[in-house]
Amino acid sequence: MRYPGLGAGRSCDSVTTALTPRRPAAPLDLLGRPLKSLRISVTDRCNMRCSYCMPEQDYVWLPRASILTFEEIDRVVGIVSTLGVDRIRLTGGEPLLRHDLPTLVALLRCHAGVRDIALTTNGILLARHAEQLQAAGLNRVTVSLDTLRAERMLAFARSARHPDVLNGIAAARSAGLSPVKLNVVVLRGYNDDELVDLLEFGRQQAAEVRFIEYMDVGGATGWSSDQVVSQREILERLSRRYGRIEPLPDKGSAPADRFALTDGSTFGVIASTTAPFCRSCDRSRLTADGQWLLCLYGESGLDLRQMLRAGQSDEVIAGQIVEAWSVRTDRGAERRAESPARGALYQLESLRSDPHREMHTRGG
Ligand code: SAM
Repeated sequence: MRYPGLGAGRSCDSVTTALTPRRPAAPLDLLGRPLKSLRISVTDRCNMRCSYCMPEQDYVWLPRASILTFEEIDRVVGIVSTLGVDRIRLTGGEPLLRHDLPTLVALLRCHAGVRDIALTTNGILLARHAEQLQAAGLNRVTVSLDTLRAERMLAFARSARHPDVLNGIAAARSAGLSPVKLNVVVLRGYNDDELVDLLEFGRQQAAEVRFIEYMDVGGATGWSSDQVVSQREILERLSRRYGRIEPLPDKGSAPADRFALTDGSTFGVIASTTAPFCRSCDRSRLTADGQWLLCLYGESGLDLRQMLRAGQSDEVIAGQIVEAWSVRTDRGAERRAESPARGALYQLESLRSDPHREMHTRGG
């Protein structure tokens, strides 16, 4: 495969890594969980201001010089893919704000061990890029769509680009990205009266909807438990309209519990707040500036940027990654669920003093 954006002479044939490409057994952590997935935040910037993620007026941004280049991200992916990571998700911030994202996709596609490359996006810029992304090797896309009402999105996420999001979803399908999924964060008093409408919209678009419980992640400074609509309540409300809802078996390491309506159409619920899936979590995360995190709630990570820029070899970096993963015990969402007086995870000042705690920095 050759991709024009890869630069002179570069093709998958010319990609080499110091490590032997193979399908190795992924390293296991102390709870027996394999390292299989890497979610990469390609930018901490976003063009929406969703109240559950970026509610503030201003933010502390990562210094530009600290943001990993495509070559650095590619090198990290090359290393982890030789360790057993076979799923990559590009996220952010809003990943489509990163200039020339298809070039990164094309680079990552070259790693033999990477079987799946996905993108999570708010969809605003998707119509413009869907075809190029697909041509570069992106497999699938998840679009965040919390409401079908443009005026709600304007009030809640400070964006008037609702029509662009809908166009983006259609463009992703036309471009052949498959499957297209729709992420819906459900908030009481905001969009909990749209569950059926959103599910119907997903059915029309042949896009599986995944309802997400509102999480107390960094950035959700206004989080309170009374705004969370639990998986149980979501199912109750949907069954009032659709009747019997069957759970589908075997979700593996995927975050969503999947369900089928009697006509066979399916949807998912990600119950990270009331029924966390830490026990099967095989994900790690790379912040836009190269901190490798073992948990969405992790306090700190391994500084891969420092290692990359200090000229460490692939073997040394791989060794550090395996060592960190092999002592991993994180189960952040479960620990939060056990906490009796649960409120927002961080206060504003602690987010300002370390923006790595923000959801938009570590990638959703
Ligand atoms: N900008 C992209 C987007 O909107 O999809 C990618 C980044 S965003 C942080 C990734 C996902 O995290 C989105 O689906 C978003 O709805 C979800 N998210 C953000 N904050 C959340 C919260 N407090 N609870 C649950 N989901 C959240």
